[in-house]
Amino acid sequence: MKILVAVKRVVDYNVKVRAKADGSAVDLANVKMAINPFCEIAVEEAVRLKEKGVATEIVVVSMGPQAAQEQIRTALALGADRGILVQTDAELEPLAVAKCLKKICDDEQPGIVLLGKQAIDGDNNQTGQMLAALTGYPQGTFASELVVEDGTAKVTREIDGGLQTVSLKLPAIVTSDLRLNEPRYASLPNIMKAKKKPLDTKTAEDLGVDVSPRTKLLKVEPPAERQAGIKVADVAELVDKLKNEAKVI
Ligand code: AMP
Repeated sequence: MKILVAVKRVVDYNVKVRAKADGSAVDLANVKMAINPFCEIAVEEAVRLKEKGVATEIVVVSMGPQAAQEQIRTALALGADRGILVQTDAELEPLAVAKCLKKICDDEQPGIVLLGKQAIDGDNNQTGQMLAALTGYPQGTFASELVVEDGTAKVTREIDGGLQTVSLKLPAIVTSDLRLNEPRYASLPNIMKAKKKPLDTKTAEDLGVDVSPRTKLLKVEPPAERQAGIKVADVAELVDKLKNEAKVI
């Protein structure tokens, strides 16, 4: 069975994101980029399924600028077999990504499509769900456990206050939550080997997908600075301030 994994190039989670001075966008100049952490978990899960003999091939796909090849190569170093870059400099919305992935699903016929539950840049949490709607495949979102056997995927989902387990008929879409697994580090020999693995480049036009945005970004602004705290002399002063300044009691 083939597994398709969608990986997004995002600002590294360790970087403190800044808005551009004119508030038009996030400032990406000289910022370290990386695989979206939830996508890394999705890659790890695919590799584990291959190690168990469930999967035979792992295809990684990313949509984005030419530099997104770096994130595909990282996924190849983690154990994926080949990559597809849908190269575009356009600002991609989840619907455009899902439409491209649908075309790739039509070509590749994967048994499972693994995605992250959300990309940490836009926090959309939409692409997997939209892809399920476009393909008609069942979906198991927010997966914290995945067991594949007898043509089904049993997905344990993290929901408010507990866990829900669903059984999906393959082919299916699964989106990874944080606790699905702990991704491995790529070893140096595997990083070297990944350079030789096949990486195909296409464009959205090749796939016949219109990726033009449907929403307009109006403004990006940093959160308000927190004011410094103060020390109070005693409980009476604290109660007075809570009552008369903060007005919370
Ligand atoms: P989102 O719906 O934007 O929060 O993204 C959810 C997941 O969809 C990500 O974790 C990826 O697996 C996938 N995805 C979103 N955008 C892209 C992209 N440009 N290229 C590849 N995968 C993507």
